[in-house]
Amino acid sequence: MSPLSRLSLFLLCLSLPLAGWAKIEAQVVSSFTVPNEWVGRLRAETIAHSCLIPSGGELHGYAISAQDARELSRALLIVGINPQLEPWLAAWAKANQRENHLVWLHPDPLPSGSHVWTIPAEVKRMLGRLKVGMIKAGVKVSEVNEQQLLKEIDAVEKDVWDTFAPLLPHERQFVTQHPGLERYAEPFGLKVVGCLLESASAESADPSAKHYADLLKTIRTEKVRVILCDEGQNPAAAQQLAKDAGLKAPTALSFEYLQKPGTPGDTWATMMRLNARKLADALQQP
Ligand SMILES: [Zn+2]
Repeated sequence: MSPLSRLSLFLLCLSLPLAGWAKIEAQVVSSFTVPNEWVGRLRAETIAHSCLIPSGGELHGYAISAQDARELSRALLIVGINPQLEPWLAAWAKANQRENHLVWLHPDPLPSGSHVWTIPAEVKRMLGRLKVGMIKAGVKVSEVNEQQLLKEIDAVEKDVWDTFAPLLPHERQFVTQHPGLERYAEPFGLKVVGCLLESASAESADPSAKHYADLLKTIRTEKVRVILCDEGQNPAAAQQLAKDAGLKAPTALSFEYLQKPGTPGDTWATMMRLNARKLADALQQP
């Protein structure tokens, strides 16, 4: 072998592992954008973290891809909210013996598919579980970042409360596209009177004729004036309901994911404030 080819072989051997390191693999993989932000905020070091469902994706009917499976297999820690909300993640972790590496931020059964990340008090509890999970997986957590995040949650809760404070008693109720916001509404003095779809896990399914007729009746007797739909999902059924009930077009909220970086609603805090503002405006409209 000539000295030159020996040199190139040596350089090739050097560059191979470097090429491997150049692609940083996520060490903490979350199910979707919201817990992924919390991982990024709590970590003390520059560990790589990512989420399976990108901004704009639907949480409930998700299916794991081959790429997701590879990421999950290599992760130090997998983060999900709740096995009822992310049954696909629970099933994958079980089938691949990775349950020991999976932390559920809200492991207890949920009332009606509740979107627990919309409830400030629950978010604080979930952050506590995330912190324990990260430390157990060997990922350092920053106490300073944690304290800052907890303060931010308190500030958001107060702002949301202030946003809804001027609403009159008859302006505090609405109908949603699917169950999940009942426990968000309650502490802020609001009420979900009914849901178009009966389950959060069937967001694209149509309601039964009986359910639809009952809901229409409830809207009339309870004098509901606002119907919500989910941003990014087909609003046809909600639009039809609004039309049949003689109400204005549905208001689209986005509690299902964070918006793309650099746009309003790209963090938990801005998502919460933005949705509260939109909802308050819709409820107050004559
Ligand atoms: Zn949902």
